[in-house]
Amino acid sequence: MADGVKTKVRTYQNYINGEFVSSASGKTLEVIDPSTEEVMALAPDSGPEDVNRAVAAAKAAFEQGPWASSTAQERGRVLFRLAEKLRQNAPMLAELECRNTGKPIVEAEFDINDTATCFEYYGGMATKVVGYVNPVPDNAMSLTLKEPVGVAGQIIPWNYPLMMAAWKLAPALAAGCTCILKPAEQTPITALEMAAWFTDVGLPPGVVNVIVGFGETCGAPLVQHADVNKIAFTGSAAVGKIIVKQAADTVKRVTLELGGKSPNIFFADADFEAAIDGALFGVFINQGEVCSAGSRILVQKSIYKKFVDAMAEKAKMIKLGAPLDRATKMGPLVSKAQFDRVCSYLELGKTEAKVASGGGRAMEFNRGYYVQPTIFYDVDNSARIAREEIFGPVATVIPFEDERDAIRIANDSPYGLAAAVWTRDIYKAMRAVKAIRAGIVWVNHMQPTYVEAPWGGYKQSGFGRELGPWGIEDYLETKQVYINLNEAPIGWY
Ligand code: ADP
Ligand code: MG
Repeated sequence: MADGVKTKVRTYQNYINGEFVSSASGKTLEVIDPSTEEVMALAPDSGPEDVNRAVAAAKAAFEQGPWASSTAQERGRVLFRLAEKLRQNAPMLAELECRNTGKPIVEAEFDINDTATCFEYYGGMATKVVGYVNPVPDNAMSLTLKEPVGVAGQIIPWNYPLMMAAWKLAPALAAGCTCILKPAEQTPITALEMAAWFTDVGLPPGVVNVIVGFGETCGAPLVQHADVNKIAFTGSAAVGKIIVKQAADTVKRVTLELGGKSPNIFFADADFEAAIDGALFGVFINQGEVCSAGSRILVQKSIYKKFVDAMAEKAKMIKLGAPLDRATKMGPLVSKAQFDRVCSYLELGKTEAKVASGGGRAMEFNRGYYVQPTIFYDVDNSARIAREEIFGPVATVIPFEDERDAIRIANDSPYGLAAAVWTRDIYKAMRAVKAIRAGIVWVNHMQPTYVEAPWGGYKQSGFGRELGPWGIEDYLETKQVYINLNEAPIGWY
């Protein structure tokens, strides 16, 4: 597009009670294409009144509507139909996701596929939620019923917008909950595109509501709302801590998937070429905007020098470019705010460690929030760049002596989301697996994520688990039912 020529941008609306509506105030926020820095759409800037409307709709749908009496089979089929819509419209969704987040189109296509798979998985799970018969000792029967927790508020980040929506909505709907989804203000588009199919696939009004707004003005009132029974949050540790406090007054169930500073550990006996690839992939995929990014690269001293050189050499070949270009391996960061934040860490890093490659914004682009994939080495684990989550393409390489040293450094972090260990020695690998305090430990790989397997953190990376059978548990209450089988009076008085 020639400079100065503005194409008409689309104005999106909230989806509340089965209808698209503007925010109560009429205010909108700008959705930016981070590769051009141009406005690509407008979305509602919602506030407490919109939250109230959405919660009222979700509450009514939970208590009275057809969803309240839906069978597990019916809910499963709804999710299958939604997955099918996503697959049919995958090219459109991938393109929007790509343009809005700045991630390479090839990665966006994977995301949309994973999103559909998540709905399919929980579509199947809807009919596998079972209770127990409890072996109580009297002439009685004790049952355990699994019931939906009620109205779920779901607050998600901007790095995998539609996939994060699926991780939240799919298990909640399978369980029979109703939802208010609040996408990140930076990336609300694909969730609203998906909302256009909700009626078609058989979601009654109010079952899923999507409202867009900022954290403080839209997220916070959702967390504090008395009629919201549960909050599921994925985002920064800083906001996670606020949410726990905000949820206290209504004793809300909360699950948190927060950040990390995940160690990717390389022993000297690892396959060297695979290790270099794995180190780069672990930290630079999705521009490093990944909660499980392997941002602390721990390398055994005997291979350290060679490893840093090889990483730097290969990092220079990573193709930065327009997100829609199929050859692109790294796009711009999602926003100006994130770009500034990452750049400030790049400056800090130069005072704390040495630079092996990158170290600043990518100068070949005269617009867009591009930064160079950056590798700092000789990093001490006490440095801020080794302790704080940067959420960008910034690797810190830390040398270690031996196995004990590696485990000590790996665990010396407030976070505990993920870790990886690379070695050909099964004994060493399994000792590390046991010793590392993290919710996910990969061996000889980093980042593969499957809907069938649990996802979540130890320590300040949060609590609760998403995906797999674990992912539905936090959307379910457990009710005990006791049935007396004696017909005679108790005979106590
Ligand atoms: P980032 O700072 O990288 O955008 P956040 O953790 O702030 O990451 O954002 C993740 C999600 O949390 C977004 O949907 C955002 O709007 C929301 N959010 C931010 N602050 C709050 C808050 N105080 N209460 C509720 N939600 C919030
Ligand atoms: Mg924030």
